[in-house]
Amino acid sequence: MRFEFIAGALCLEFANTVHNVRAEDKGEELHAIADLLQWAKEAGLLSSADHDRVAAHYNRNPRKAAAALAKGTAIRDLLFSIFAGIAHGRPVSSRRLSELNSAMAQAPGRLRVHKSADRIETAWTSAVDGLQQALFAVLASAAELLASDRVGRIRQCASADCTWLFVDESRNRSRRWCDMSVCGNRMKARRHYQRAKAAQ
Ligand SMILES: [Zn+2]
Repeated sequence: MRFEFIAGALCLEFANTVHNVRAEDKGEELHAIADLLQWAKEAGLLSSADHDRVAAHYNRNPRKAAAALAKGTAIRDLLFSIFAGIAHGRPVSSRRLSELNSAMAQAPGRLRVHKSADRIETAWTSAVDGLQQALFAVLASAAELLASDRVGRIRQCASADCTWLFVDESRNRSRRWCDMSVCGNRMKARRHYQRAKAAQ
């Protein structure tokens, strides 16, 4: 697994494909469509076979790949903005909600079933439907979280260098960090880098 899943809600896991957003060199994880597809696969939203089909489709269509990546990261940035605001006690603006509604209004992809030799298999109508469905699942998770009681438990990692979001499911609402093994290691690597730079 390349991506970390620590947030407790699919929409926040996707929002966490960027970290340290306040820094100039923000930690962008989605540089190419391949990264987005890998995330969807690791999140359990795309089977290996569908992943490979969608990847092959976008390999043949670099312009469509760039557009699909831009759409994916725009959704990610919207979710980050909404939920980071909530984590800091800011109400969600009507504008952000209508942006979420426009994103959800797009077709979520069409699934079909067909017979093969000895069983029934599922397949997307077109290769890109698999990715559309994955993004729709992320958006649906955001809608559900916004309308649930868990919305009051959304937090942002207490590390100044992190900015990851999560749902605090601890009984006494005391979780402050995304994940020490991830976040702590990242901080260590960063300090190491800064020390090395200062020593030069
Ligand atoms: Zn963190």
